[in-house]
Amino acid sequence: MRLSKLASEIAESPTLALNEEARLLRERGEPVIHLGIGEPKNKTPMNAILASAAKLTSGEVKYTPADGTPALKKAIIRYTEENYDRLVSPENVIVTNGAKQSLFNILYSLLNPQDEVIVLAPYWVSYPEIVKMCYGKPIIVTPEDGMFIPNFKEIERAVTGYTRAIIVNSPNNPSGAIYPAELIEKLVDFCERQGIYLICDDIYHKLVFDRQEAAPAFRFTEKDIEDSHVIVVNGVAKVYGMTGFRVGWVVAQRQLVKVMTNVTAQMTSGVSPVSQSAAEGALNGLQNVVEALRLQIQNNREVFLQEMKTFNGARLIKPEGTFYALPDLRAFNANSVELSKFLLKKALVVTVPGKEFGMEGHIRLSLSGTVKDVTEGVARIKWALDPTSPNEIYIGDKKMVRDWL
Ligand code: PLP
Repeated sequence: MRLSKLASEIAESPTLALNEEARLLRERGEPVIHLGIGEPKNKTPMNAILASAAKLTSGEVKYTPADGTPALKKAIIRYTEENYDRLVSPENVIVTNGAKQSLFNILYSLLNPQDEVIVLAPYWVSYPEIVKMCYGKPIIVTPEDGMFIPNFKEIERAVTGYTRAIIVNSPNNPSGAIYPAELIEKLVDFCERQGIYLICDDIYHKLVFDRQEAAPAFRFTEKDIEDSHVIVVNGVAKVYGMTGFRVGWVVAQRQLVKVMTNVTAQMTSGVSPVSQSAAEGALNGLQNVVEALRLQIQNNREVFLQEMKTFNGARLIKPEGTFYALPDLRAFNANSVELSKFLLKKALVVTVPGKEFGMEGHIRLSLSGTVKDVTEGVARIKWALDPTSPNEIYIGDKKMVRDWL
C-alpha cells in the first residue's frame, strides 16, 4: 500500500500502545499494575456532569462556532484572568479537541516547511511528532546529565534563523520538574525580543506540591497580547481529571487565533457541545475538586518517595508537580525500552521507557492511580531489579521467586 511518507513516519503513541498491551494482559486475568497512563482516577466533577447532562437533555446538540461556544470562551477568559492576571478578548481564545489539538493547530498555523521548533528534553512524547506532522523540524535541547531543567544558554545556542517556536511544559511531563521562574522570565524576554513564539503547555499548572508555583509566562511580559509571542495552552484533562471530554484551549494573539479557527473549521468544525458544556461546568463550578485531586496526587507522591528510599541503585529527582516521576535506572539497564519490557514481563508493571521522552536510561512512572498501585508497583519494580530487595513477592495470589539476579 502506498501511504504518505510523512504520515508513515509518525511514531505510534507509546502510552496508547502500552495501554493496549496492559488491557490484553488484564483480559487474560493477569494482575497488571498500570503506572503508564497519565490519567487521574477521580470521577468527573459534578458541575461538569450536570452541565453536560443539561446540554444533552435539551436535545439541542448542534454545531457550535468553530472556535468554541461563547459561554465556554467566557469561562476561559475568567480562568485566564484569575490564574494569569490577564484580561483577554474572546478573539484571543480558541477551544480545541484537547490540548493535543491545541498544539497541533498552533504549529500547523505557524510553521512553514523546515521551520524549527525547540523542544526541551525531557519532553512530552507528542511534541516532536506534532512538529513533524506540521512539516517542521524538532530541535531537541537536553539538560546536563542528571538534571531535568534546561540550560538557558543551551537553548539560545540552538536558535537559528529558522526557529519559530520554543515549547515549554512546566510542571513537566515526564519529569515532574517545575522550571524556575528566572528561566521562564529569561525565555519570555528572549522570545519577545527575537520574535520567537513561546508555546507554554500549562496543562498541569495547578498540580504542584509543597506550595510551589509554576510561574506563568504572561507574568513576565509587559506586551499587549496582540504584540506578545507568548501562547498559552491549557485544558480540563489533567487538572479536572476530564481526559475523555477532549477539551483544551489556546490563548494567543487574535491573528493566530483567526488562522487556527479557519483550520479548525475545515478540519473538525469544533468540539462537541456536550463536552464544551462539561468544560464550562468545570471551570465555573466549585474549584475544590482541583484541590482534592492535587492533594490526592501529592499524597501518592509522598508514598512513592517513601518507597523509593529503599530502592538501591535508582536515582530520583523528586517530582515537584504533575503525577509523574522519572527515575534514572541506568544502574540496571541503560536501555529503557528493554527495561520497560522486562518490568512488564517479570513484574506485570506498565511503565513508559524514558527514551520516548528523550531521556534514555530512565523510566516514567505515573502516580495518578491509587496508593496501592504506587506501593505495589514500586515494590514489584524493586523486586525485579534490586538484588538487595527480598527475592520473594506476591503478584496477585501467586508467590513469585526472583531467579535472575
Ligand atoms: N500536554 C501534555 C504535557 C500532556 O501530558 C498531555 C497529555 O498527556 C497533553 C498535553 C494532552 O492533553 P489533552 O488530553 O487535553 O489533549
